Amino acid sequence: MADEHKDVWVYIEHKDGVTTPMSYELLGAGKMLADTLGSKVCAFVIGEKTEEIAKNAGNYGAATVYAIDGASFKTFRPDAFAKAGASLVSKFKPDIVLYRATTQGQDLSAAMAAQLEVGLGSDAIDLQIDAGSKTMKLTRAAFGGNFLATYMNTRSKPQMATVRPKVFPMPQHDTAKNAEIVKESFSMAEDDARTKVLQFSQSEVAVNLIEADIIVSGGRGVGGSEGFSVVKALADTLGGAMGASRAAVDSGWVPYEHQVGQTGKTVKPKIYIACGISGAIQHLAGMRTSDCIVAINKDAEAPIFKIASFGIVGDYKQIVPKLVEQFKQKLNK
Ligand SMILES: Cc1cc2nc3c(=O)[nH]c(=O)nc-3n(C[C@H](O)[C@H](O)[C@H](O)COP(=O)(O)OP(=O)(O)OC[C@H]3O[C@@H](n4cnc5c(N)ncnc54)[C@H](O)[C@@H]3O)c2cc1C
Repeated sequence: MADEHKDVWVYIEHKDGVTTPMSYELLGAGKMLADTLGSKVCAFVIGEKTEEIAKNAGNYGAATVYAIDGASFKTFRPDAFAKAGASLVSKFKPDIVLYRATTQGQDLSAAMAAQLEVGLGSDAIDLQIDAGSKTMKLTRAAFGGNFLATYMNTRSKPQMATVRPKVFPMPQHDTAKNAEIVKESFSMAEDDARTKVLQFSQSEVAVNLIEADIIVSGGRGVGGSEGFSVVKALADTLGGAMGASRAAVDSGWVPYEHQVGQTGKTVKPKIYIACGISGAIQHLAGMRTSDCIVAINKDAEAPIFKIASFGIVGDYKQIVPKLVEQFKQKLNK
């Protein structure tokens, strides 16, 4: 059957059946590739109850959603999900399969690539279709971010890639758009799964920068780890997450999980407040598409002011505590 299929599939990730709008973001990139190939963007979901997720994937633009339901799939486990995912891919033969480059997406894509014996490109920041060969071209940072490299997998199908969150535009949610839902069964004896999830515990340094609507970041200009308690106070007051420049991370003031930029996370919050960050190109690469950028820097010539929506020239030590005080009053905290 379907060897000639050119469909582009997107994995819809969830945590125990709960998705966020970001779970559907790659349907936008998938549609762009599918349009170029003259094919369809489809989604696949594996879970205990997938109806709502499948319906939503249709609203976000999937033409067809392939779903596997079962009690074994309540909580994400790479081996169980990879077996189920590989069975779908083997049967329906998509041309391309995309996953978000999140912990879950990276786990699942690697396990599925091994099951299917195909290649996997990771952490794409751009995807195109090569005009001649109709093969996907994947661009990613290489050599510590000093170069961008473009790869094509010309050997195996489907072509699979993980894609950095927030680099492609979010597709529109439209309840008028509905997908055809294809329910497939895949049964797995509990003994066949090599892992059992006993519990999840939140890591102390876990920071959800990617999903945050408000991010307050600190750079070398905050002077040390004490400076980050000032930055964190503003992030906490605004209900946001705390980010950092690489200079601050390399100095050991905050863990790498907080780093924003070319070799850190790509973020797109509604508000990004940069404190003591000069605005190097590699930092801007991770945050320049934020909706509103506020820069606080004592040097009026700092490059960050060129892309800032609002700029405050001055010492963060004086400005940030005042902002905390004012926001606490306004927000009745
Ligand atoms: C391959 C490669 C990858 C990289 N990846 C990343 C990345 O992912 N993310 C990243 O951030 N960087 C990255 N970098 C590093 C980047 O080039 C810059 O060195 C780094 O972003 C600078 O961090 P910064 O702005 O905190 O420090 P600086 O450039 O030193 O700027 C500090 C700023 O603080 C201001 N300041 C000082 N004191 C105060 C004060 N009291 N109040 C207010 N302002 C003050 C100063 O005026 C200055 O503008 C990368 C570099 C390379 C080569």
